[in-house]
Amino acid sequence: AGTGKFFVGGNWKCNGTKESVDKLVSELNSAHLESDVDVVVAPPYLYIDKVKNTLSARVEISSQNSWVGKGGAFTGEISVEQLKDIGCKWVILGHSERRHVIGEDDEFIGKKAAYALSENLKVIACIGEKLEEREAGKTTDVCFRQMKAFADSVPSWDDVVVAYEPVWAIGTGKVATPEQAQEVHAALRDWLKNNVSAEVASKTRIIYGGSVNGSNCSELAKQEDIDGFLVGGASLKGPEFAIIVNSVT
Ligand code: PEP
Repeated sequence: AGTGKFFVGGNWKCNGTKESVDKLVSELNSAHLESDVDVVVAPPYLYIDKVKNTLSARVEISSQNSWVGKGGAFTGEISVEQLKDIGCKWVILGHSERRHVIGEDDEFIGKKAAYALSENLKVIACIGEKLEEREAGKTTDVCFRQMKAFADSVPSWDDVVVAYEPVWAIGTGKVATPEQAQEVHAALRDWLKNNVSAEVASKTRIIYGGSVNGSNCSELAKQEDIDGFLVGGASLKGPEFAIIVNSVT
């Protein structure tokens, strides 16, 4: 891990029922979570209020998406204002499922990030290459292009955590090796140094996501430029998520 405070987010995606959410919240409430780690969970919108009212305040709440501007006549969308009203502190933007399943592009995601930050919602900014892009030697081209879209839109990186999530590793059980992840994290930090500032490069947390679990987290956490994790599948199990949170120690 690097010098920034370790950050672990749990992305529950489109999973759960009232019953399973209650169970997960009670597992998290009884788990030991190291105090020097920022812990955030992102429930489906429908359960955010329930989670906010039952989960220990030690864990902050994120949404998994937000509308690109002020709320209004946008059927089916959820606004940043509403997310703040209900107690969210964070939003995940640019997740690979939003990019590649739903079709959100770099520019739209950048605009969402700018709007969320302007309303004081912090951003987990996701980037990452597909398998064919990695195999074609385009990993950094893709990641840098996605970083640039954020950099072109956001006024400041103070409230941004970057999540490097190679698409081939998300939900596949194929975790990046610690060396593969470290290599990209170091390149991203370098990109920030060359394109934003040395200060932003050293302060911005770059977390890894893609099939992180209770068994592979500690080797990844040892890498110099890995400042935490964004966890999908394994965040649905409270005890395993706690192991990941505590992996930095
Ligand atoms: C994610 O959705 O951000 C993710 C990393 O998923 P998983 O941990 O299931 O690969």
